[in-house]
Amino acid sequence: MATAVFPNAHKNYINGEWVEASTKKGIENRNPANTDDLVGIFPASSAEDVNRAVEAAKNAFDKWRLTPAPKRAEILFRAAEIMIERKEDLAVDMTREMGKVLAETRGDVQEAIDMTYLMAGEGRRLFGQTTPSELPNKFAMSVRAPIGVCGLITPWNFPIAIPSWKMMPALVCGNTVVIKPAQDTPLSTYHLVQILAEAGLPEGVANIVSGTGPDVGAPLMNHPDVKLVSFTGSTGVGRIVSLACAGTFKHCHLEMGGKNIILVMDDANIDLAVDGAIWGGFGTSGQRCTAASRVAVHKKVYKEFVDKFAARAKKLRVGDGLQPDIDMGPAINETQLQTVMKYVEIGKQEGAKIATGGNRLNKGAHAKGWFHEPTVFIDCDPKMRICQEEIFGPVVSVMPMNSLDEAIEIANGVKYGLSSSIYTRNVNDSFRAQRDLDTGIVYVNAPTIGAETHLPFGGTKQTGNGHRESGAPALDFYSEWKTIYIDYSDHLQRAQIDNATT
Ligand code: NAD
Repeated sequence: MATAVFPNAHKNYINGEWVEASTKKGIENRNPANTDDLVGIFPASSAEDVNRAVEAAKNAFDKWRLTPAPKRAEILFRAAEIMIERKEDLAVDMTREMGKVLAETRGDVQEAIDMTYLMAGEGRRLFGQTTPSELPNKFAMSVRAPIGVCGLITPWNFPIAIPSWKMMPALVCGNTVVIKPAQDTPLSTYHLVQILAEAGLPEGVANIVSGTGPDVGAPLMNHPDVKLVSFTGSTGVGRIVSLACAGTFKHCHLEMGGKNIILVMDDANIDLAVDGAIWGGFGTSGQRCTAASRVAVHKKVYKEFVDKFAARAKKLRVGDGLQPDIDMGPAINETQLQTVMKYVEIGKQEGAKIATGGNRLNKGAHAKGWFHEPTVFIDCDPKMRICQEEIFGPVVSVMPMNSLDEAIEIANGVKYGLSSSIYTRNVNDSFRAQRDLDTGIVYVNAPTIGAETHLPFGGTKQTGNGHRESGAPALDFYSEWKTIYIDYSDHLQRAQIDNATT
């Protein structure tokens, strides 16, 4: 069996073979905790490579769509089993290329395993409807039909989980795929494609082309033979993807930015809320689309919360995520670190107070990585840019508030709508909050992160465009409903006319 893993140089996977990019150029993938550590060199591919991959996927589609779904699912099931065997190696490689701590990269791999098992199970369901016809001697049903070649474009913060959220439902529904991983974290997606190949996925069914957004993502989403595009990334790039798909009426699924919030009411278990805000705000160094980058705290418990929260944030150990005693890793790259530093300056100029953090870490053990202190801004105004814009780093802005109404107004007063959370022991308030918070996901007495794969995942407003990833709703995006009427009356029957009541 061909392998994706050469000492350091990797190729694209097209039509069942690892092939060099037409450009013969590569992009370095370096460990963000130690930039001396070269994880690998990945192809800097071009439109020519995309064209080859799409052609392979198009050619493979007819056979794959006619492969019975339970058989497709068996391949996925085998892939999940292989992932379990390799879980630790996959997690270590992911920490090296992405920086988040091992406990979290193990979780990322587990999410891919869960998603793969879930979709393997769907292979024996893929339910449609059967329903009585309004006319006699007529049968009505709906079935799911595959769509064709799917172009999948993914971000770097969940390097194996997000590719699996897209690939597994696409494949079980009978589509073929070309995936373009984020250029900061291609290795984990390479491992996933390699595992699918080892599990028996036929050639051409899943292809990987690595490279930059403009050089690979753009030709992929504009390719006339790509019928569906699923994108996860920033709202700015999502808008470009959406416009590109509109021109050719491609099915288009967008999962984009967030500015998520935790609400802490005056009857909350404060220690539990602090635990949640630490995990939600600083897990993955705040680089989760669901990160709790805002916390609104009732004035009656504000001081207690802020004191405890800042003290805990200050104690977080920042460093190389491969080391067992580390709580928080680096930013993904220099640009992301610069963005964090820029927003810290903006926060200071806006008049927010720093309770802890605020500085880059670049001495001693931190000298070779993109590290930043966990940073807590307090006494923030909801209109400040640090409370409105996605920072995507270890920066949490805390705002005081007086009531549930005010808390919900603050929560909903941003352009994003991914995840929100409320800490309260009041059952009425918790139900009002879950009804009125305008986000795709709401947690009660738990932080804004922690999605499970069998439930719908996605956001409102500028976070999403109405589709949902994972859970059964993912099948709705990766298949087309086909409605079938079978008339066995042997004469013309006209719906709404021959059986009209008046
Ligand atoms: P990004 O938008 O910069 O890149 C995402 C992907 O798009 C990458 O593969 C990139 O190469 C590609 N791309 C960039 N320019 C392109 C172009 N012109 N045409 C086609 N493709 C292009 O995002 P990122 O920095 O990788 O990830 C961080 C962002 O992703 C954050 O905004 C975060 O909130 C969001 N995110 C959202 C979710 C969600 O489910 N809502 C999940 C994870 C991350």
